Amino acid sequence: MRTRRVLAACACLLLVFLAAGCGKEGSPPVKGPRPEQLPVYRVDTGFRLPQSPTWTEARKRGYLRVGAKEDQPYLGEKDPATGAYSGFDIEIARMTAASLGFDPKTVRFRTIASANRETALQNGQIDYYVGTYTINDLRKKLVGFAGPYYMAGQSLLVRTDEHGINGPQDLAGKTVCSAAGSTPYQRIAAEYPKAVLVSYDTYSICVDNLLTYQVDAVTTDDAILLGFAAKAPKELKVVGEPFSREPYGIGVPRSDNALRFALDDALAANQRNGNWKKAFESTLGLSGTPAPTPPPIDRYPAG
Ligand code: GLU
Repeated sequence: MRTRRVLAACACLLLVFLAAGCGKEGSPPVKGPRPEQLPVYRVDTGFRLPQSPTWTEARKRGYLRVGAKEDQPYLGEKDPATGAYSGFDIEIARMTAASLGFDPKTVRFRTIASANRETALQNGQIDYYVGTYTINDLRKKLVGFAGPYYMAGQSLLVRTDEHGINGPQDLAGKTVCSAAGSTPYQRIAAEYPKAVLVSYDTYSICVDNLLTYQVDAVTTDDAILLGFAAKAPKELKVVGEPFSREPYGIGVPRSDNALRFALDDALAANQRNGNWKKAFESTLGLSGTPAPTPPPIDRYPAG
């Protein structure tokens, strides 16, 4: 019985990721961002940023290349049928692209896992990165960060039949899964050494392992976990209170301060004109979180 429910849940989640909907034939499709609800961003055609090598290159090329996630519900999702990306992070990328003078429809997204973000920015594979990317001092040695544009917090996802895990203090002897190279992984390793920590490239693999009883919990930001729980509410739940602060920033090449400041300005302008709130409500808001007040932008000096 339990196995059957789990198998059904897995098949269902798989379908969710195929954007094919979930449930019996004839049931409504899973709630997701609807294109007609998303804001339309005005392209600042007169915008120029010659001090930025990244912007100048992109201008010559004719489009921006942005790194993102493709398996994080309501944040960064790729439709395997069409290749189209959607979610709050994707909207942040599009609204800032428009402010930098690029048609948001032309942005080329590329999926980059948590562990590969710094290298992708350092190698110039992407112009910037928008994908649940926590700003911290260690990463600031390798890349620059515009923002923050959202404040998340580390949390725990378990199966609904799990009653023994209500916070990180309950993880001793339990198997907990997170993404390699992520801050939640590092926090469990450093502060909860009695937990049995396993890592994969992505959180969706962790969630598959949770549904098939290979792991007892998945840990990462509440924003990500609430999305998975919203897509499979019978099988999954987020437990306890967030136990860290994860300010999300836009990752840029470290030396390109002009690009970073321009993105700070773009975020601020899109907060003022209501685009930020509208984008949130039509994406991440669908996982049940009302639009918060965005955190103040930290325009730290070049150096
Ligand atoms: N925000 C955390 C981080 O940047 C976890 C989410 C992620 O891996 O993207 O490491």
